[in-house]
Amino acid sequence: MHAEIVMIGTELLLGEIVDTNANRLALALRDIGLDLYYKTTVGDNLARITEVLDLALDRSDIIITSGGIGPTVDDVTRQAVADATGRKLVYSTELEAQIAARFNRFGRPMADNNKRQAYIPEGATPLTNPVGTAPCYLSEDVNGRGCIISLPGVPRELEHMMANTVSPLLIGRMGGIKVTRVRVLRTCAVGESNIDQGIGDLMTTGNPTVGLAAHIGQTDVRITAKADTDEEADTLVAGMEAKLRERLGVAVYGEGKVTVAEVVGDLMQGKSLKLGVVDTLTGGQLARDLVESGYSDLVATDLSPANLTEALKDSGADASNPPDVEVARSYAVSLAESVTPPDGIGLAMIGPFEESSTFIALNGPGEVCLFERSRNYQDTDYIRRWLVVQALDWIRRTLLGQMKSPVDWN
Ligand code: ATP
Ligand code: MG
Repeated sequence: MHAEIVMIGTELLLGEIVDTNANRLALALRDIGLDLYYKTTVGDNLARITEVLDLALDRSDIIITSGGIGPTVDDVTRQAVADATGRKLVYSTELEAQIAARFNRFGRPMADNNKRQAYIPEGATPLTNPVGTAPCYLSEDVNGRGCIISLPGVPRELEHMMANTVSPLLIGRMGGIKVTRVRVLRTCAVGESNIDQGIGDLMTTGNPTVGLAAHIGQTDVRITAKADTDEEADTLVAGMEAKLRERLGVAVYGEGKVTVAEVVGDLMQGKSLKLGVVDTLTGGQLARDLVESGYSDLVATDLSPANLTEALKDSGADASNPPDVEVARSYAVSLAESVTPPDGIGLAMIGPFEESSTFIALNGPGEVCLFERSRNYQDTDYIRRWLVVQALDWIRRTLLGQMKSPVDWN
């Protein structure tokens, strides 16, 4: 059994209001373990809504619509549902009484156009809407293709109906709630396409499913399992996680929401290591990330990009302007050594030099690693964050004894 949602409203279609209802509906369906296969947005147009619902009935068991069930002329969902399910619209005096009673409670007169809301597809089951005037209903297709549940567009009403009426109804139809378990393995400094190559065959399985989401310098590998019980779902996730970890190895730095900075901070603190940093590439982003993650043993040396060439000359290097790549390379190493605290690690991130080349040198524990990248440096937030992830990951791999130097960084 699977579901589909149809979001109705011209304002939505044209982007004038943000579709928060789709988000709520999708999460509510996930929470009860009902698969959502499609989401369509359509304007307030009878023919097009009918067409979308007809297609939805062909391919889905449960269709939930949002919007267009109010009293105004542009609220045509009722008629479209009737047409798509092959039913007539019929007047329900029972619904009229419900609507009238509600207006009464609020001490407001019921306008004539509210009577429109008392029409529902023949045979449909009204679903009581205690927070609004628009009656909701469930309409079965006359040919048994599936059913359409129509909910209001007003977010507060939709959420109330979903939580109190529709979710329980759907759980009943599914014969019980399904448990969904999600686990996210976080990888960094390995491109999305490399991950895809390594685990592509595992990404075509049905349950659990495996999917990727790329972020700056990082790729999340998401495992989703569905089962009748918590234990079954956990077993499915654990089996897949073991396979993924075996393939991905050290590329997996953690799981859930953990950041690389947090992992590196914890590793350093666990080994009581201080970190000395000189950084002309990330505008202080690396230091900020570490400090925000709770790591405090950081000694940052100030060196502005503008002063870099001067500093290079002062160091006694035979520096031309711009400095020769060889000279810059060895300067990175000597800088990393010079900022290394006793019992600590030194990190120098310097550049850009000729042809956008940049150098990151890491000193210790026990060895010096040098990374260089000879293209693509731009002073943008994206590149700064990308470099931070790379540098932190090298520290992490070094601390785990998994770093091989030199690294091809291009
Ligand atoms: P009403 O009785 O208010 O007319 P309705 O079921 O006809 O209810 P709509 O007219 O489609 O619903 O929407 C009513 C209001 O609810 C819209 O003006 C908009 O502010 C909000 N709304 C509608 N659809 C959505 C949505 N998908 N996401 C967020 N808000 C929405
Ligand atoms: Mg409306």
